Amino acid sequence: MQPLNQVLLHKDCRVGPDLTAWRSTIGGKALKIALDDPSSLIPLIKDAGLRGLGGSGFPTYKKWEFLAAKKMAMEKYLICNGNEDEPGTFKDRVLLEETPFQVIEGATICALATNINHIIFYINPDQTASLASMRAAVELWEASDLYTEVKKKTPRLKYRVHASSGHYIGGEETAAIESIEGKFPFPRGKPPFPADFGVFGHPTLVNNIETLSNVSHIVRNGAEWYRDLGLGDAAGTKIYSLSGDVLEPGFYELPMGTPLSDLINIYGKGMLLDKKLKAVFTGGPSNTILTPKDIDVPLDFDSVLKRRSHLGTGAMIVVSEGTSIVKRVAEYVSFFAASSCGQCPPCKTGTYYVAQLLNNIDTGQGSQADLDSLINLCKILPGSGRCHLVDGAVNVLDSSLYHFMDEYRHAIKAT
Ligand code: SF4
Repeated sequence: MQPLNQVLLHKDCRVGPDLTAWRSTIGGKALKIALDDPSSLIPLIKDAGLRGLGGSGFPTYKKWEFLAAKKMAMEKYLICNGNEDEPGTFKDRVLLEETPFQVIEGATICALATNINHIIFYINPDQTASLASMRAAVELWEASDLYTEVKKKTPRLKYRVHASSGHYIGGEETAAIESIEGKFPFPRGKPPFPADFGVFGHPTLVNNIETLSNVSHIVRNGAEWYRDLGLGDAAGTKIYSLSGDVLEPGFYELPMGTPLSDLINIYGKGMLLDKKLKAVFTGGPSNTILTPKDIDVPLDFDSVLKRRSHLGTGAMIVVSEGTSIVKRVAEYVSFFAASSCGQCPPCKTGTYYVAQLLNNIDTGQGSQADLDSLINLCKILPGSGRCHLVDGAVNVLDSSLYHFMDEYRHAIKAT
């Protein structure tokens, strides 16, 4: 196990769009290795155990293999997904703003491994500093000898920074494709999957910004080094966006598998005003809630899943005793209802109806019939949409009913 101060992958890259500063430390070294032997890259990423850090946890090498298997002559796209917009999630904006060159280098290495020739940095327009940093960095990169070397290998490689429409749903991979094609980001039905039919019908790979930010470190240091950074069976590091009722909320890059208790009590410096922990919205508001009995859970994909929740984006929203769970869930479901694109009636009307019922109960106007409807909707709605928005809204509702039914009953009794 590496001492903690050595596992922070991103610290040497936090120079913003300053190419000279980045190259004075580690910048460009991984690219040189990748250029020497592109065929070694996918096996390396596989051995390292890198997984999708935007929430899916899907093995990165498999996605890369899908694209690599497509004919070399084809147009192929990489979308570097930085649309993050979910409450409590703020890691990609930091990486884009402060470490733009490690993002570009990681994306370029991915393109070399898969013969992709269009790289698109897809960024939430509300993150103006991220957009400015990436635009400046791409301009410097394209004028550098690094790009000249890359073009010797892959002459058609182009970069583009694309401001998304700013809709939450635009982060869904097929919605991102629609947005890049200049349309409203309506999620598409699948199949066909982006690897077969993506941007303008061409094979497309969508990777999260944090995932790509890990790539150059793996290439430079090796798969075993990366795997050893994690705790237990987990590989690498994870950025946790810690917010809510802790003394020091923030952006923490820690070994994958760090216990939730360490994140809250050591890095977050414990609960605000010494209050008791009530719940953690784990992986953001679209996942199952964890309660104090799960405080020991190692924060990695598999361990969190064993507690019937999801690591998601790594957002951890900490809630203390005295906070109304009904009110908090009502706020989150209202967010999802407002974010629904409206293509699927069960999502559009279902999330809206759930939000209305929750608001009734939260404001003391709810009834047992409202609560029964919520319980029924948890059975009916999952899987009824083209994308996972409706499932996310139900996840948080269902787990709040499971853990905090007394609170719901009390809110009704009070009417
Ligand atoms: Fe749109 Fe909701 Fe359908 Fe997703 S599930 S495509 S957000 S209507």
